[in-house]
Amino acid sequence: MQDLTEPILELIRRAATDLPPDVEASLRQAVEKEAPGSAARGALETILKNVELARANSTPICQDTGTPIFYVYHPEGWSTRKLRAQIEAAVAEATRRSYLRPNSVDSLTGRNSGNNLGGHHFPSIHFEEVDGETLTVDLMLKGGGCENVGAQYSLPNSALGAGRDLAGVRKVVLDAVHKAQGKGCAPGILGVAIGGDRGSSYYASKEVLFRQMGDTNPNPELAALEERLTQESNQLGIGPMGFGGNTTVLDTKITALNRLPASYFVSVSYMCWAYRRRRMTWQDGQASYA
Ligand code: SF4
Repeated sequence: MQDLTEPILELIRRAATDLPPDVEASLRQAVEKEAPGSAARGALETILKNVELARANSTPICQDTGTPIFYVYHPEGWSTRKLRAQIEAAVAEATRRSYLRPNSVDSLTGRNSGNNLGGHHFPSIHFEEVDGETLTVDLMLKGGGCENVGAQYSLPNSALGAGRDLAGVRKVVLDAVHKAQGKGCAPGILGVAIGGDRGSSYYASKEVLFRQMGDTNPNPELAALEERLTQESNQLGIGPMGFGGNTTVLDTKITALNRLPASYFVSVSYMCWAYRRRRMTWQDGQASYA
């Protein structure tokens, strides 16, 4: 089997140090929506300067390089055990080169492993076999501050007056955005999953964050809700880094899973402005990156 350690190391470097073009473009559009001289505009300009410096110097975009979350889509015949070993080797080397901060802490002893490995599920790696000959690795670096403000709701929720329908989904997602204010490093991007069990729902709410900024959900009802939630979040006045202003959320992505008749979960994964997600594709022995 081919050794992908080096190409995956490069994927990690790009994810940690080079904000994707669609995210940067969205932040630049947001600057124009904030009043000249406002704290909101200043915060966005500082963020963008930081993005440029990180790219030029190959240094992390944010000091918290987050949880590395890999989604691997591999053709038939690849060993997931060997792929896991290669990903772990790349993560350890990326930490040694300071692309990643040592972030893996034993929850019982408090000891940091020092190389972003250790225990079960660190880094977080999901495998799926796919048709064809192309192997794809999607990587997201999910910061702790924004992960802390993720939320899961079980509908109906009487306190919020949220029933088991899209109107109820809207209410709980806006509640999550409201509660995230001053935390989570706005402007954020909302990954929302409706349905599933508690585990699959959170999983899907992160997976949906791999969509491109500004794309349109193929389901017209969900597309309309995504647009409405982004607009209404931006009317809350929370603004970049909580300084007030017009840009609280850059985009909203929603997916729906089947659910048990007895359950209706809504999971919200809040992604901070440091929306670090990158893709590597491997075909005919060559890596390409997006
Ligand atoms: S939430 Fe995001 S931007 Fe804020 S400190 Fe964490 S990784 Fe950095």
